[in-house]
Amino acid sequence: MLSIKNLHASIEDKEILKGINLDVKAGEVHAIMGPNGSGKSTLASVLAGREDYEITQGSVDFLGNDLLSMETEERAREGLFLAFQYPVEIPGVSSTNFLKTALNQIREYRGQEPLDAVSFLSLMKEKMNLVEIDKSLLSRSLNEGFSGGEKKRNEVFQMAMLEPKLAILDETDSGLDIDALKIVANGVNTLKSKDNATIVVTHYQRLLEYIVPDFVHVLYNGKIVKSGSKDLALELEEKGYDWIKEAEPTH
Ligand code: ADP
Ligand code: MG
Ligand code: MG
Repeated sequence: MLSIKNLHASIEDKEILKGINLDVKAGEVHAIMGPNGSGKSTLASVLAGREDYEITQGSVDFLGNDLLSMETEERAREGLFLAFQYPVEIPGVSSTNFLKTALNQIREYRGQEPLDAVSFLSLMKEKMNLVEIDKSLLSRSLNEGFSGGEKKRNEVFQMAMLEPKLAILDETDSGLDIDALKIVANGVNTLKSKDNATIVVTHYQRLLEYIVPDFVHVLYNGKIVKSGSKDLALELEEKGYDWIKEAEPTH
């Protein structure tokens, strides 16, 4: 599904990603962990197609497409979901209207008819039940005045509706409480299937008490310095990151 090869990226002439290699197959959940400043959010941003970064080397293949040459919207239409790709707050636009537009754009791109109001509502209902979201949340302006937990719930609901092939979740907000983490984890677990994949970028070992990743990677100083099973997350919980920093010769 996703194959990242020797990816290097810089911002303002400072190299942040220094040769990332990562393969993600359908059906897998990958967690990317690592100390603050190691490049996790940069990696997520580069995959999302944010323009502030310069790719200096390497390639990213997404379902047979050259991801790095695609526009952000094109990436979304091909089935990539990044929570922060979607607007943070749109006064006057409800989640429902926003999603209807997004979903019908994706359908049009795939050569499918737009959903009519009745089918859209029934799909909403099905997905609302699936991720346990309250309908009052959906009639409010998108993300306006949402709590951390409500934002997460909404994000997971967007994911459920858009059915991405690959979701990349960057859990950067250190203000998230345990309920918000559980919402994300439940969403990832519920939406997991043999046809899709998820990359969870996280500072929190705790998130991985609720999501069981198939693979855990440690990003440090712009490189994946260690990969393993969920046991690696437990080891990190116990030992912290220092032993990984010491093992890394460039630091
Ligand atoms: P992480 O998500 O692992 O904490 P980031 O990807 O946010 O790490 O940051 C990696 C490095 O890139 C840090 O040293 C950070 O200071 C730097 N960096 C990130 N974004 C920018 C930016 N817009 N301008 C300059 N430096 C940046
Ligand atoms: Mg950071
Ligand atoms: Mg980050």
